[in-house]
Amino acid sequence: MRFIYGPVLSRRLGFSLGIDILPPKTCNLDCVYCQLGPTNKRVEVRHSYFRIEDIIQAIEKTLPHLPKVDYLTFSGSGEPTLNSHLGELIKKIKKITPKPVAVLTNSLLLTQKEVRQEVSLADLVVPSLDAADQSVFLKINRPSPSVQIDLIIEGLIKFREEYKGQIWLEIMLVKGVNDQHEHLLKLKETFIKIRPDKIQLNTVVRPPAESWVEPLEEEELMEVAKIFGPPVEIVTETRKRINFGPKNNLEAAILSILKRRPATDEELASFLNEKPARIKEAIQKLLAQEKIKARRHYHRLLYEYYRRGKKDEGTG
Ligand code: SF4
Repeated sequence: MRFIYGPVLSRRLGFSLGIDILPPKTCNLDCVYCQLGPTNKRVEVRHSYFRIEDIIQAIEKTLPHLPKVDYLTFSGSGEPTLNSHLGELIKKIKKITPKPVAVLTNSLLLTQKEVRQEVSLADLVVPSLDAADQSVFLKINRPSPSVQIDLIIEGLIKFREEYKGQIWLEIMLVKGVNDQHEHLLKLKETFIKIRPDKIQLNTVVRPPAESWVEPLEEEELMEVAKIFGPPVEIVTETRKRINFGPKNNLEAAILSILKRRPATDEELASFLNEKPARIKEAIQKLLAQEKIKARRHYHRLLYEYYRRGKKDEGTG
């Protein structure tokens, strides 16, 4: 369904019902590791994009049919704070369900008081911060040249002072880009100032926007975790299963997930609580119809949605 995907088993949030309030790949950054591919044009200004009622209606229709949802999560096709209705949407969701709401953000717009206030309405905020240094920031996140990492860090510090909910700060580590010892020490100093409830270390497990991007090995992640110390954790893949409703259109369910993130056949079987043989069969059909394509990323064979041209409104 448009605006809604999953629930998918998220490495961070358990069973997460994705709320996607943006057109495909709408972002103010162009991260080298982005699983959505390169940003064609960075979007710097907030916009309403869709009618609030349509999004709320989609949630109201879907939620009663789902046996297990741990979080309703604003995420998906880009940076959710770019939707100027975000605050209003969180308020309305709180009226229709007691389930906690999470917002995943790249932290850029937390420099703005109004955005901090809107995001504060969520129960959990997962902001990302991959750099503590302007040159590393430009290299890994590729913002518009005028965007300053120091101001973003200031925004995060202010947000911590104002917000009483949980902040799980995420850092995506890319080999040779932001994992140098000196830079890690700088990040550690920054984390001490921000005081998040958790620091989550991640690395590149899905096909990145740039083919030269390399992940860290598990041992290297553990070394970084030692440098940062508590409250750090390495975000790992989980293997729980979920039964999430009618499977009368398995191919549509697979497409809905792959429009937002690439996945292996094993992950799809897990997300959809479906037999691996049925998933493989559906994948073969979708490959033959050229609706998806396969891509090898290190040792994993991932499937991704096949986008034809920029105008594709792939929001399921
Ligand atoms: S990883 Fe997130 S912040 Fe970075 S370009 Fe992709 S959508 Fe934007």
